[in-house]
Amino acid sequence: MTISAQDVEVAESDSISSADDSLDEDIESISMDSASVKSYTTLSLPIDSLSDSLVVAVYRSGWDSARVNPYRFPIDSIRDSFVVDCRGFYPPNINVVTSECGERWGRFHAGTDMRLTIGDTIRAAFDGKVRVTRSNASKKKGYGYFVMIQHANGLETLYAHLSKVLVKNNQNVKAGEPIGLGGNTGRSTGPHLHFEFRFLGNPINTRNLLEITADTMYMKADTYTITKKGSFKEFYAFLHSPAKYHKVRSGDCLGKIARRYHTTVKQLCRLNHIKPTTTLRIGRKLRVR
Ligand SMILES: [Zn+2]
Repeated sequence: MTISAQDVEVAESDSISSADDSLDEDIESISMDSASVKSYTTLSLPIDSLSDSLVVAVYRSGWDSARVNPYRFPIDSIRDSFVVDCRGFYPPNINVVTSECGERWGRFHAGTDMRLTIGDTIRAAFDGKVRVTRSNASKKKGYGYFVMIQHANGLETLYAHLSKVLVKNNQNVKAGEPIGLGGNTGRSTGPHLHFEFRFLGNPINTRNLLEITADTMYMKADTYTITKKGSFKEFYAFLHSPAKYHKVRSGDCLGKIARRYHTTVKQLCRLNHIKPTTTLRIGRKLRVR
């Protein structure tokens, strides 16, 4: 099968929102019972090696196998001083980049897409601990089958649209260890890897840290310093872009729409002069930003 970059880009336009949708279904089935509270306090990642106690605290309080971003940590609260140790990186997949991190048709594309052949081995980028896996998601939605790993250097990495997941939640993995097989699951029309870096839940353009070509992928330096405006430039611009609207669809609710657009129910109510209890008519246009 041959694909064009355009195919993948079109497919990806819905990826983030749909991924949030499929994850949200899981979130709603998880309550803060004693078992989940306990799991928050038993994280065994070697977080002592993180150099910033706030980062350690956020990750420790947010260990959650249901959500890609359980932290909801605002970019403006991130200090411009956290240094990521980039040593020990292993390329998850090497191939032509077909789509970059940035805004796509009003949604945010949080990763870099790279072409692959179905069944290609996808490898962990750094040593770490698997936080989220999904291999029972609707194959047509969002990220499809995916793996997310938390690393001791403060980054989390996400590998989406896999055909097979080879690891389990809470499993420790080594850099270069196979974690999945490349695929075309989720909202994707051509086989590719969607690869993300996140810091406290916020997506960093992989290009900030990585040199990526069709046949190489390597870290630009041994360390990378996180800065609010630099590291999250694309996401920051997206969050601060002009007014945007969402057309209500069947199954939408304010919470779901808020998550999709990285906002809050309170903010949606303020922008649209409605109450949290207001019934959403299908077809109605809601201002989301
Ligand atoms: Zn993508």
